[in-house]
Amino acid sequence: MYTKFMSENKKKHFSFSIKKKMKGKLGRIGEIQTPHGKIQTPAFVSVGTKANVKGLTPEMIKELGAQVVLANTYHLYFQPGDEIVKKAGGFPKMMHWDGPTMTDSGGFQVFSLGEAFGTGVSKVASGEDIVVSERKGYDKSQKFAHIDEEGVTFKSHLNGSMHRFTPEKSMEIQWNLGADMIFAFDECTSPLAPHDYQKEAMERTHRWAERSLKRHNELDRENVQALFGVVQGGRFQDLREESARVLGAMDFDGYGIGGSFNKEDMAEAVGWVNSILPEDKPRHMLGIGEPMDIFAGVENGCDLFDCVSPTRVARHGRIYSYDGPYQIKNARFKEYFKPLDSECSCYTCKNYTRSYIHHLMRSKEVLGQTLASIHNLYFIVKLVDDIRTSMKDEGFEDFKNSFIERYYQKEDIKREENTCEI
Ligand SMILES: [Zn+2]
Repeated sequence: MYTKFMSENKKKHFSFSIKKKMKGKLGRIGEIQTPHGKIQTPAFVSVGTKANVKGLTPEMIKELGAQVVLANTYHLYFQPGDEIVKKAGGFPKMMHWDGPTMTDSGGFQVFSLGEAFGTGVSKVASGEDIVVSERKGYDKSQKFAHIDEEGVTFKSHLNGSMHRFTPEKSMEIQWNLGADMIFAFDECTSPLAPHDYQKEAMERTHRWAERSLKRHNELDRENVQALFGVVQGGRFQDLREESARVLGAMDFDGYGIGGSFNKEDMAEAVGWVNSILPEDKPRHMLGIGEPMDIFAGVENGCDLFDCVSPTRVARHGRIYSYDGPYQIKNARFKEYFKPLDSECSCYTCKNYTRSYIHHLMRSKEVLGQTLASIHNLYFIVKLVDDIRTSMKDEGFEDFKNSFIERYYQKEDIKREENTCEI
């Protein structure tokens, strides 16, 4: 009886409907209804790490077409603290954003940023370091993060103080932060980790998923938050499929596809998972924002994508364009009196030249970073909007091929610069 009431009540606040499916592929056009408005999918989720999309006001974010903002549990837990965010009415109210919102679980930052901060270890290698260091019997007191069955103990990247996250704690923090959509606490592993460790971590993530669901249902009696489970399993087909089956049978409102992938088999691995996950729930490909990967994610059944890269690289002068990214600080733009991209309709491109933004960037003016961030975020949000439009008109393949051929025409594009690590 209680379960029935829960599911009926939940429908009032949160739902997902599929409008159209791609022929012969897993991709679909859909619509997510949240308490703060609708999201047309596939959609790009703007990352507002500490309850702000760096350098942009909510009015700018809205004007450039962003539908939804994701903030980071780990960062807001430390600064200003989730209790303060709760007193402010939740992070959406605090940052004056009235549209749909998400928070991640904090798991990714605990394992990568907590473990690897300041060491130069990348997102891909960080999980492996945990495994290797544990196997070699390293002194555990020297590590930044230690995983046990109950949760994770880790050192703050700010001051070295010790903290502990459990699935229950992650739910409590995310409840205080107050987003529309939140994620179950999971262990993010390296794609390089061996099968036996991936299996162990995945099974722990499944147990944590059950605990996350239980605590979430206790906290959210009004059913105002949707909870997404996070599929793990690394690069192994049997584990990814098992994770999709186990989590797919739990009563989540949607699913995140987490962990790091090998670039070469990412599309295939996402396809394994999405062939099994319930079709009527939205799927979020966590931390993916490279155009080529978004195309692969969409045709393999993903609905949401997030990445901090558009604004992060913009602040360093890296500008997206249909002819591939370029560096605006380059001397050749000193007297280039045309927009960042002549085919772009963003606020920056309608009003400013490369010469002016080159000047602002070279003289380290904050406005340069803001204008470049507006352009890059608009560019990637519009790319996913255009993908959605192409799916409506059965033109996905043509659009994908023409975009990729042009965007990646220069051999010197380094994809690894576009990291989504936050
Ligand atoms: Zn532009």
